[in-house]
Amino acid sequence: MKPLFIRNLSQAITMADGLSPIKDAAILIEGELIKAIGPTDEITPLVPSSAQVIEAGGRCALPGLIDPHTHLVYAGNRAREFVQRLAGADYLEILKAGGGILSTVRATRAASDEELYLLARGRLLEILSWGVTTVEAKSGYGLAPDHEIRILRVAKRLSDEGWQVIPTFMGAHAVPPEFKENRKAYLDLVVEEMLPAAREVSVFCDVFMDEGAFTREETECIFGRALELGYKLKIHADELAPTGGAEVAGAWKAISADHLLHPSEEGLEAMAKSGTIAVILPATSFTLRKPYAPVQRFRTHGLKIALATDHNPGTSPTLSLPLAATIGVLAAGLTVEEALLGITANAARALGLEDRGVLAPGKRADVLILDADDPAQIFYQIGRKLTWKVFRGGREVYSAA
Ligand SMILES: [Zn+2]
Repeated sequence: MKPLFIRNLSQAITMADGLSPIKDAAILIEGELIKAIGPTDEITPLVPSSAQVIEAGGRCALPGLIDPHTHLVYAGNRAREFVQRLAGADYLEILKAGGGILSTVRATRAASDEELYLLARGRLLEILSWGVTTVEAKSGYGLAPDHEIRILRVAKRLSDEGWQVIPTFMGAHAVPPEFKENRKAYLDLVVEEMLPAAREVSVFCDVFMDEGAFTREETECIFGRALELGYKLKIHADELAPTGGAEVAGAWKAISADHLLHPSEEGLEAMAKSGTIAVILPATSFTLRKPYAPVQRFRTHGLKIALATDHNPGTSPTLSLPLAATIGVLAAGLTVEEALLGITANAARALGLEDRGVLAPGKRADVLILDADDPAQIFYQIGRKLTWKVFRGGREVYSAA
């Protein structure tokens, strides 16, 4: 691969410490990594004559965006349920009536491996067009050993093809209908069979701890086994009701606690002590017309905030991380700087990835060039796709027509 020289950027937003912009910037890429970054006139003398030159023409660069919470692999859609909710039905009512997650479970179990792969790949193409170069992907629409593994293998296959997909095992997403009268047997299945089997194809273990989902006791039982097996922990915490999810995240040193609409003060304090990242999912609040995460309380506790789409067919159908972040700014009250950190450097932290999320020498050359001179345009232009070019691991993988 020829070295790549991106020059004449209005600015490179490096995210090294806050936004840390470099004005009139250039980036030299060799192989998969950033070799040098700085003002164009300082970098130019370092560029080998063999380099391919990308003339950025006053556009700005950011680290490739990172979506640290999605439910990428599933079949079907829930447009009908969307209509029901608009007519006043509540998410928990729909779930109890066999809709919600369980309708996606039926469609996912019925789909072939190839269908699931093509659906997920199609979503990744759209995600990439928004400038996103790394995507976390949870299982949780199989809810049976074979089906959960199938979903994770799809994520792994995409990852092997070069998509930066980070798989998370989430067998504890809901109790499947066949175990409705015997939760304990499903929990045993997750702990004794699914967790060991999924280990080789997943990095994280996530649990939906909430009212109508899994209890604290059940969550801790899963976490205990997951830690023994070498998983890192994530948790869907305090989304629907205050159930102590943030406290569990802190006590178990989870890498992230996600949702957090109703966290307790003790929970946030525990998260601050354990360095747990608060992942907010404002597109979900927007879709469900629910409250937003209390970001001012996160600031008070000094928590690092990341932001994700929560892409899933029920509560957040968008694939656009910039749109989710725009909702974070306009509705949840993040500053532009917090939102940008939330989808780059802090999103990388929420996935335990130290090789990306910032633009610096030695980091992966995952670079988003916006067709704009200022990254605030992402939020200001609400919903407009400003992606000009995307580089992933030093390769150009997207270019606007
Ligand atoms: Zn989720």
